[in-house]
Amino acid sequence: MNIHEYQAKEILKAHGIAVQDGIVATTEDEAVDAAKLLHQERGTGLWVLKAQVHAGGRGKGGGIKLAKTFDEVKTVAGKLLGMTLITPQTGPEGKVVHKILVAEDVYYPGPTDKLEFYVSILLNRQTGRNVIVYSPEGGMDIEQVAATAPNRIFREEIDPGLGLLSFQTKRMVNNLGLSGNVAKEFVTFCEKLITAYTKSDATLIEINPLLKTSDEKIIAVDAKINIDDNALFRHPEIQVMRDLTEEDPAEIEAGKHNLNFIKLDGNVGCMVNGAGLAMATMDIIKLSGGEPANFLDVGGGANAATVEAGLKIILDDSNVKVVLINIFGGIVRCDRVATGVVEAYKKLGNIRVPVIVRLQGTNAEEGKAVIDNSGLKVYSAITLEEAAGLVTKCLAK
Ligand code: GDP
Ligand code: MN
Repeated sequence: MNIHEYQAKEILKAHGIAVQDGIVATTEDEAVDAAKLLHQERGTGLWVLKAQVHAGGRGKGGGIKLAKTFDEVKTVAGKLLGMTLITPQTGPEGKVVHKILVAEDVYYPGPTDKLEFYVSILLNRQTGRNVIVYSPEGGMDIEQVAATAPNRIFREEIDPGLGLLSFQTKRMVNNLGLSGNVAKEFVTFCEKLITAYTKSDATLIEINPLLKTSDEKIIAVDAKINIDDNALFRHPEIQVMRDLTEEDPAEIEAGKHNLNFIKLDGNVGCMVNGAGLAMATMDIIKLSGGEPANFLDVGGGANAATVEAGLKIILDDSNVKVVLINIFGGIVRCDRVATGVVEAYKKLGNIRVPVIVRLQGTNAEEGKAVIDNSGLKVYSAITLEEAAGLVTKCLAK
């Protein structure tokens, strides 16, 4: 699950990690109140207003703006709230800003040495250990650093029992050019970050930039945290952070029907039972000259209701030119699925694209007969090659 920057910072703060502090606002007036409160409580006199959307690169897209007076806070908040923010990560359609974070401006003026660093924690699947990735080139796209200056990105594997060892933390501060008190601050920061990562069942924590302040403090200016969906059941405090307005409506709808659905950009909708078969089906679609419009695994219990829900979600996508239903009848019988497809087809009515149904396994022949005798514009196939050929044929029309 994805969460907003302000929510990620709440998690970090709960673990005693220093962050650029702020208050979330949904209206201009709330933004001014937030700025006033920060002024009263922390003496903040310069503010930064940050669009809260589930995408990075906000600075580049114009979603991060400074304000020096309460009046400016109001006008800047007015501009950000409701805007469609387009960043390198939102896609061309952008994301509407519903919330902003009003935070203290933690940067200080004047010529200084390098201030911005990069730190993230994630799992290294090869070693089965968490790894801390860090770089002195913070504040910019880490992908760009990886492409242009890969030797400026460093890694330390984290021993699950011992944590970061002292030879590693020495190497880290050395690579970042930190010494003295701020070096100690940095090591403590990383240790707490590892605890936050483990305790919240995160799959990724990324701090970019991590800032060295004028008084030699280390603080997280930005924070991105992804949480492992399979561990959410033990984090009710994180579950409530879910923001449905940031998620794809089709994916939310699929979730309601227990369908495993991911929206993609292609033209061939697919519905499959089993994740492995779904991957294979997507390969077949590409080999047939199409592009998958989605990943959809209806799971083991494919029935008329799930087939109908899945078909409806697929057909709501105007990019879809052909639908390929690929079912392996193991526990579920093919004739039952075929009946489900025919029922769903009739019920949805007015289906504008060809539907190809490939059934294999238990009662495959009976299933094919159900499709062929239905009188509907549904093509049936038994082998994968047949199905692929039908996809190519339908796309060429
Ligand atoms: P992102 O673009 O979505 O990654 O958002 P960030 O929170 O990382 O902010 C982007 C950039 O805005 C940072 O790299 C900074 O250069 C700038 N920025 C963020 N907070 C402040 C601040 O408090 N003061 C100033 N002057 N700049 C800031
Ligand atoms: Mn950032």
